[in-house]
Amino acid sequence: MKLHEYQAKQIFAKHGVRIPRGALAENLQDLRKIAEELGGKVVLKAQVLVGGRGKAGGIKKALSVDSAVEIAEKMFGSSLKGEIVKKIYLEELIEIKEEWYLSIALDRVEKCYSLIFSTAGGIDIEEIAQKFPEKVIKVKIDPRWGLWDYQTREVLSKAKISSELWKELSNVIKALYKILVEYEAELVEINPLALTPNGLIAADAKINIDDNALFRHKDLEALREYGGVDEVERKALAEGLNYVKLDGYVGVIANGAGMAMATMDLIYLGGGKPANFLDIGGGAGAETAKKAFEILSMDKNVKVIFMNIFGGITRCDEVAMGIVKAFKELNLSVPIILRLSGTNEEEGRRIIEKELSGKVEVVETMEEGARRAVEVAKWQ
Ligand code: GDP
Ligand code: MN
Repeated sequence: MKLHEYQAKQIFAKHGVRIPRGALAENLQDLRKIAEELGGKVVLKAQVLVGGRGKAGGIKKALSVDSAVEIAEKMFGSSLKGEIVKKIYLEELIEIKEEWYLSIALDRVEKCYSLIFSTAGGIDIEEIAQKFPEKVIKVKIDPRWGLWDYQTREVLSKAKISSELWKELSNVIKALYKILVEYEAELVEINPLALTPNGLIAADAKINIDDNALFRHKDLEALREYGGVDEVERKALAEGLNYVKLDGYVGVIANGAGMAMATMDLIYLGGGKPANFLDIGGGAGAETAKKAFEILSMDKNVKVIFMNIFGGITRCDEVAMGIVKAFKELNLSVPIILRLSGTNEEEGRRIIEKELSGKVEVVETMEEGARRAVEVAKWQ
């Protein structure tokens, strides 16, 4: 989960990293007030969860309150790399003498954290590495021991940082590492870390939290925004279903991600196009099965649903009851093709036969199911 710049900056400030004075605006009235409080000379920063906002026009300077409002009028509601701008973070203009780069990120391959520093910041780290490879300093941090002081000193001396900035930069590096560990982040980045006449200030801030650790950070989870996520996907996510919308028309419900992928492949092989990926997971009960139908029925492009269940820990009779429930509670109008195989399959079929005869077409194999689904979709 990515935090917005303004959220990440709050965390930085709490840990002693200096940030410019600023506040968040969600409408023009607030924005005007904030611009006045900041003295008129401000930078407007679109709060969207994409990188490179500067180049894309999401970072603008204003020298007066009126011009800040004028810029904001255009910025609010505009699309930045596919994300609609709803919030603008306003900051006092700072005088930047140099732009540095500092980040600590999880390196899954090396099983460590990797600290990267460069005095050639302000641009993407990939670009820095390409243009000034000699200016990129990389230090591995073993999570068992954490960041050693000698490692910080190594960064400072390799980067030839002048001695009066040693203490300040070491403190920023240490704070960053502390934040990374405390919030279980995958990435903590300051780019640019601005060298100003008054010392170092984090002009930008990035924190990406490891999704698998989010349950330990309820306060952060509350900040979660589903930027750029489709409405159906949002609902599926809220229901805890593993759903990805695609642009086809054959709805897919399967248990297990591998099974869902294989089902999609078969639909493609049969000349059709899947409308989605939906894995209801191992051990899915009737309620989950019902929810799956609810999600798919929200997608107007779905012409037919192919439900492909191989019962291991998932019980076919439970799934069948879910389908019955879905028919009772939802207004299902699309044809349904069903393959039920494995644990309690006879019982499952009996339930479908008894309750939904003529409404659900039961097939023997997944190949047959995919073929039928593509065929049936043609008639719709
Ligand atoms: P990004 O493009 O999404 O990474 O957005 P940044 O927050 O890094 O802003 C891009 C660039 O805008 C920075 O590299 C700075 O050059 C400039 N910038 C951002 N904030 C300020 C500021 O307060 N004062 C000045 N002078 N420049 C700023
Ligand atoms: Mn930046």
